Amino acid sequence: MSTSTMPQDKIHAVPSTPTQYIYFFGGGKAEGNGKMKDALGGKGAGLAEMTNAALPVPPGFTIQTEACREYMRSGKVSPEIDRQMDEAMHRLETLQGQHLGRGDNPLLVSVRSGAKFSMPGMMDTILNLGLNDQSVAALAERSKSARFAYDSYRRLIQMFGSVVLEIPKSEFEEVFDAKKKQKKAKLDMDLDAKALQEVVAEYKKVVKKHAKRDFPQDPREQLVMARDAVFQSWENDRAKYYRRINNISDDLGTAVNVQAMVFGNLGETSGTGVGFTRNPATGDREFYGEFLMNAQGEDVVAGIRTPVPILELERVMPKVYGELREITSRLEKHYKDMQDFEFTIQEGRLYMLQTRNGKRTGRAAVRIGIHMVEEGLITKEEAIFRVEPNQLYDFLVPRLDEKASKIEVLAKGLPASPGAAVGQIVFSADAAVKKAGPADKRVPVILVRAETTPEDIHGMQVAAGILTSRGGMTSHAAVVTRGMGKCCVVGAGDLAVSEKDGEMRVGKQVFREGDWISVDGTTGRVIKGKLNTLAASPDNSELRTFMAWAEPFRTLRVRANADIPPDAIQARAFGAEGIGLCRTEHMFFATDRIPHMRTMIMARTEKDRRAALKRLLPMQRKDFIGIFRVMDGFPVTIRTLDPPLHEFLPRREELMVEIAVLEATKPKSPKLKGLRTVLQRVEELHEFNPMLGHRGCRLGISYPEITEMQARAIFEAAVAVAQDGVKVLPEVMIPLTGTRQEMANQAAVVRRVADEVFAEKKKRVEYMVGTMIELPRAALVADEIAQEAEFFSFGTNDLTQTTFGFSRDDINKFLPDYIEQGILKQDPFAVLDREGVGQLVKMATDKGRKSRSNLKVGICGEHGGDPSSVEFCHQIGLNYVSCSPFRVLTARLAAAQAAASDKLKVEGGRTK
Ligand code: PEP
Ligand code: MG
Repeated sequence: MSTSTMPQDKIHAVPSTPTQYIYFFGGGKAEGNGKMKDALGGKGAGLAEMTNAALPVPPGFTIQTEACREYMRSGKVSPEIDRQMDEAMHRLETLQGQHLGRGDNPLLVSVRSGAKFSMPGMMDTILNLGLNDQSVAALAERSKSARFAYDSYRRLIQMFGSVVLEIPKSEFEEVFDAKKKQKKAKLDMDLDAKALQEVVAEYKKVVKKHAKRDFPQDPREQLVMARDAVFQSWENDRAKYYRRINNISDDLGTAVNVQAMVFGNLGETSGTGVGFTRNPATGDREFYGEFLMNAQGEDVVAGIRTPVPILELERVMPKVYGELREITSRLEKHYKDMQDFEFTIQEGRLYMLQTRNGKRTGRAAVRIGIHMVEEGLITKEEAIFRVEPNQLYDFLVPRLDEKASKIEVLAKGLPASPGAAVGQIVFSADAAVKKAGPADKRVPVILVRAETTPEDIHGMQVAAGILTSRGGMTSHAAVVTRGMGKCCVVGAGDLAVSEKDGEMRVGKQVFREGDWISVDGTTGRVIKGKLNTLAASPDNSELRTFMAWAEPFRTLRVRANADIPPDAIQARAFGAEGIGLCRTEHMFFATDRIPHMRTMIMARTEKDRRAALKRLLPMQRKDFIGIFRVMDGFPVTIRTLDPPLHEFLPRREELMVEIAVLEATKPKSPKLKGLRTVLQRVEELHEFNPMLGHRGCRLGISYPEITEMQARAIFEAAVAVAQDGVKVLPEVMIPLTGTRQEMANQAAVVRRVADEVFAEKKKRVEYMVGTMIELPRAALVADEIAQEAEFFSFGTNDLTQTTFGFSRDDINKFLPDYIEQGILKQDPFAVLDREGVGQLVKMATDKGRKSRSNLKVGICGEHGGDPSSVEFCHQIGLNYVSCSPFRVLTARLAAAQAAASDKLKVEGGRTK
């Protein structure tokens, strides 16, 4: 109920300032600024900032993201937004001394999307807006080039037709290609004004046929429709997909930038280009980019014509080049980061169209960070945040093993994104998805295209590598793969790729779907056949320098999940500070061990079981000795057997088939009896719900001799290496406990065996017994469990499974629907669910430490290598995270950043 004493009618009469939906920029001043990315989007904020810095930016205005959000909520644009837009357009017309699409010198504008985070190629753009049957003539007259005017007009109809009226692009392309054929034109540029005029007439027919309306001649109607289409494009499938894989919220909305057009296709003194202030692939200090004379921006980015290196511009237009260098250096100093910029030269005059922090590979990010510290541009503390933890994966990407086989280089393209990929050729994104198969059984494929478009994103996501015959370092394929950290070669011009015919030709050789190729994204080479790959070595001096700046901040320890000595060696090389999870069952799956494991499972009596376990003991002991030696001085957490026993036996269906075949073909075979016994045991062990079944500590409770054997192997190994002077710190971990009594039962077995071994060997070693927390009940009674357990390690794979009630093996059946409908923002098995599972982790940690103040707490589920989850673990005060060896570097940096942002009171500041 209102407590106001003011009469209701008076309340309504209080004037409220309308929301400012439009931010103008031009004439040396902007209403917005570079900090307003939430409202203006990255592009709009950049345009405002550049205008305020007195750079040559074509004037215009940004319709802020709130307008898009309103549009998403209500499906329409409020009259207030229309009013403010008309006002801004009037202001732009006055500033330019032109009218939108009218008069002798018509104003033309571009309409572009621009969200807070850059989403390359995901949203739609419309250029040359304002052209119609009258203004095209005026433009022809004014530019003294009818060819240019009609080319601009046909581009508008084409873009407007496909983006706003949703007519398939191919409808326009067919008309255009047919005209080129008819006029025997090789290049687009070979079509003259008359031919383009004919194209315009035919394009209009395409519009009429498909959209059941004429191409709008009224410039304001064009503007309104284009604006609304940009709003809608926020919700298109490509954009949604991109947001999903990049963790960008669906709620942000996009801004719309309306800006006076400048033309790069006004003849030989005009041009357009894109560039970076440093090399985005290597991080080297070099002015980097490409341009095309007499072209519009989309020609460069779409990879339709292969552009020229930007250094050539110095020869073609030295003055403009000098100005561009001066401006972009200024921009880099201003933003204190590498800039990715777009420019247009209109009749010898330079205009800046965009600037933003450029995307880069992990190696480049580290090198640029170091260089900028050396140059005094940023501090070491700032540099720490210039690398996304996941980007460090770049230092671990494989290389091709060139010594092992003879190499036939088929072609050389541009090294767009580093690493090596070996796979079977596919020519479409759909074929990539089909052939690559499910994530856990992925077949390596190389997506080969003339050029990629945003529609290919699903194929790019599953491919091992991408190869295109056209396009430059800023083409769609290059930009997107760099962001994904995926190997990519672009512009391999010697390849003739025909997606339609499903073939790639190189000279006389023809390659088809399924043929193997090897792609080297670091050098740009395309190599015939299936080469081996070599694991990368993370021993890189720049990486060491960078990590040495970040690491002192880190308080969270980082361990690795490793089951065998070679993995432990790898983990140490990546800087792991111990083993957080050694899954001992993986040792039993080895081919020479599984028969003993099976004998143990088949045993009917404890005596027989012990006999089989005795044979397994030396094998386990040997593995532990290997791991302890590698981890000299670091803790090693060894988990007792976890999976249900039937996992070690042959599958029921396979046994049944084998028995049936033998019964039919060799009914007297002596093998039959044994097989029938195995089948009977498999059926006895069968469970309806094995994940919730006889596994984890439940096994050790039913068969304590298994835990005994494992404990013996651990302590005998520990004593043996300790006698050699190795510092050994074993931590025995009991899986899947849910009650204090379970923990007490298994801890007693372990401690008894430890005492036995120490007495036998006359040597003691320090050790701990702890548990995994993988069940909600365990979290709820963590204080009780902590009375028996000396440490906790959260098995967040199972804890996520048991908290949500989602099967970790089957979630992919419905997860895409959940993400699509916004029910979940991300896969909870990849990124820790802070609100649910995370609360259990926090609660259990707090409760556990109440009972045992020095309780050591870590996490060893998949989340231990995910930067966001690592940050959470830091925030709630865990002691360590443990992840697969290849994610150790990422986890180290994520933990360092989390601690540094606490200490330095900076929020992120990472390049996104
Ligand atoms: C877990 O459940 O998080 C865990 C690490 O154990 P596993 O994946 O072996 O079940
Ligand atoms: Mg588990």
